[in-house]
Amino acid sequence: MEIIKENCGLAGIFRHAQATEILYLSLFSLQHRGQEAAGILLGGENSTCFHGGSGLVSDVFSSSIIKSLKGNYGIGHVRYSTTGTSNPRNIQPFSIEYKGKTLAVAHNGNLTNSRILRKKLERHGSIFQTTMDSEIILHLFVRSNGTDIKEKMAKTLNQLKGAFSLLIFTENSIIAARDPNGFRPLCIGTLNKKSYVVASETCAFDLIGAEYLRDVEPGEMIIFSDRGMDCYKWAEGQKKSHCIFEFIYFARPDSYIFTKSVYLVRKSLGYNLAKECDFTGDIVMPVPDSGSIAALGFSQKKKIPFEFGVIRNHYIGRTFIQPVQQMRDSGVRIKLNPVKSVVQGKNLILIEDSIVRGTTCRNRIRSLRAAGARRVMLGISCPPIVAPCYFGIDFPSKEELIANKKKVEEIKQFLDLDALHYLSLHGLLDAMPLPPDEFCTACFTGKYPVKPDYAFNKYQWEKKNCCDF
Ligand code: SF4
Repeated sequence: MEIIKENCGLAGIFRHAQATEILYLSLFSLQHRGQEAAGILLGGENSTCFHGGSGLVSDVFSSSIIKSLKGNYGIGHVRYSTTGTSNPRNIQPFSIEYKGKTLAVAHNGNLTNSRILRKKLERHGSIFQTTMDSEIILHLFVRSNGTDIKEKMAKTLNQLKGAFSLLIFTENSIIAARDPNGFRPLCIGTLNKKSYVVASETCAFDLIGAEYLRDVEPGEMIIFSDRGMDCYKWAEGQKKSHCIFEFIYFARPDSYIFTKSVYLVRKSLGYNLAKECDFTGDIVMPVPDSGSIAALGFSQKKKIPFEFGVIRNHYIGRTFIQPVQQMRDSGVRIKLNPVKSVVQGKNLILIEDSIVRGTTCRNRIRSLRAAGARRVMLGISCPPIVAPCYFGIDFPSKEELIANKKKVEEIKQFLDLDALHYLSLHGLLDAMPLPPDEFCTACFTGKYPVKPDYAFNKYQWEKKNCCDF
């Protein structure tokens, strides 16, 4: 059976004449969170409309499609599946018709008890249209015996485990909710203090001219309706486990997530890396774009000049996002090109945000040597990734993670490096603007803050050969 996991981007708007354009722009700025598919669902005068498709936001929505989508509130989604081929049925927002009304969900994260819930629902007659764990949420919602929308939603959310930042569309409201651990970000803003907007990251608000109000709190749901914004805590007292990898790699540097600036955190990672390692070289250069800010921090701390020794072709999706390994390898060869005049005869300190399989990185080192680099040293702005993620980020299976198979010295040899240094876990946590115990660091430690349920566990165990809980 196909298991769908994803890291995605969410956008929502409540009551605005230009709801379609606002959702389109919001998704456009969240494109880095999902490049395989995009969708928008709108509600208006007793009608709803949806458009979605595979590809980038700008490809899925033409100006004529945007004009044809009518409504004054709605939700949008950019999607990135992590299993094999993309399935058009899995494009979100995913909607159903219930009692003559449209109910829809847009989900960022991964439910760790999805197989148990799905089996239970199927035993009770539910027929699923997709392979997405997100669909389960709507089935639970319509079966919930709560007396009002708030109670129905709370009863639904209390059955979910794992990572979920959600937007739910109903006949007269949108609901934003976050899991009690707060794995994935979700922010609220306002447009002219009249309309509410919701987005995975604040960079979406910048593009649409919205003012950031606050985050949806872990364990909170917020109902946006004509009554305004109603906030409820549906779960309390659980330890926060924000995904630390959002700061390292995933979120855009111009965003604030978990209330903090991604740019400043990423620069601190480079600064701490420079404090820890003894590299000396002629220039510090990033692997663009995600390594750029850490490289700047490193360069400033070490007082070694910063140069762009590799130029990125911006018209290719990020290597990490490509779902097919074959595409991944060919993608890296055409994506980054060394600047010979910068690297030739130099001792290079290359800064990268992470190493996953190592194949991409090895190709980069090769191309730098071919361009005449004298020595190549590599600094990684996070610790070795040794365990897969069950909370919505696409790391490959444990066997494919290079740091799980090889020691640092072996990785250095595999990559053909003169020196290699990973930021320590202490250095990583020290760069964070929140207390260390408010982060999930499971991909570095194998210690998961939420234990997947047995059915999920058993299936994924075989697939991912996961380590200890
Ligand atoms: S396992 Fe890693 S990538 Fe997954 S939520 Fe935790 S920190 Fe983030």
